[in-house]
Amino acid sequence: MIKLAVIGDPIAHSLSPLVHGSALDALKIPYHYEKIQVKKGGLEDFLNYVKKEKIDGFNLTMPHKTDIIKYLDEIDEDAKLFGSVNTVKVKDGRLLGYNTDAEGYLRALNMKKHCFSGCKVVILGAGGVVRTLALKAANEGANEIWLLNRTVERAEEIAKSVKEKTGVSVYTEELTSEKISRVSRDCDILINATPLGMHGVDTDFEDLSFLNSLPKSALVSDLIYNPPKTRFLKRAEELGNSILNGLGMLIFQGLIADQIYLDMDFDLERIYKEVERAYHEK
Ligand code: NAP
Repeated sequence: MIKLAVIGDPIAHSLSPLVHGSALDALKIPYHYEKIQVKKGGLEDFLNYVKKEKIDGFNLTMPHKTDIIKYLDEIDEDAKLFGSVNTVKVKDGRLLGYNTDAEGYLRALNMKKHCFSGCKVVILGAGGVVRTLALKAANEGANEIWLLNRTVERAEEIAKSVKEKTGVSVYTEELTSEKISRVSRDCDILINATPLGMHGVDTDFEDLSFLNSLPKSALVSDLIYNPPKTRFLKRAEELGNSILNGLGMLIFQGLIADQIYLDMDFDLERIYKEVERAYHEK
């Protein structure tokens, strides 16, 4: 039996047990998957627990993705580049760190027959997830990358870091409807990576008129999966654009983590469909 866990704070609403549980069920692999609240500063105690309970791997969410790095014996290229780890595999007592978030997003894009390579990518937001997506887009050969954020300095800081790490220039702007409209006029992929429109968040885009200026061929993507169609995605769909919500990223980052835990190259899209069904039945 494989013993896995997810840690974070808050953790009560984590969907990781559902994603990993339904994937491992579909793969017919016996498992034990725990959801554990670990507060900031609590990693050492948790790592003692990992050793004592012989846990084979764990997923991490806020606030541990960066703090874990100093405890790792090895870190993979993406995780090192992003400075952030969401998956740790325990192998012969050694802790190996990975980050599957951006690869998860890329797989979801690929399933929609899109990719970053050669594309103009416009991202709204400049939080933790945007840092990984901007670096991934740069490494995948995006043609032009824009970050628009309420606090433009945070976008500028990410742009600087992407330039230093990859040599790729990233352009920044303030997050206003007029600026989104101007920047995304000829974009291939527009991604909302802010919580605007998310269930439980009482703010949303006031003005979605910027979607009118997008080419019809552009993919409009929201990292939010609850609700499955934000107002942003609904409007884009009404205008004839192809849309992608955040469920694909959520599921694929988990499945890639499972491939790492199991050292198994299973068919991601087949298992994706099983997990997606379990998610809709929950
Ligand atoms: P984060 O680090 O907290 O960053 C939040 C970003 O949203 C910041 O750029 C912030 O701008 C902006 N923002 C927040 N409230 C805003 C408002 N009222 N108006 C305009 N901008 C606002 O969050 P994160 O980890 O990057 O996550 C971003 C989004 O992606 C969230 O919705 C999260 O749920 C989603 N996500 C989804 C997945 C998935 O698997 N589908 C994975 C990770 C994240 P300022 O810099 O100005 O504060």
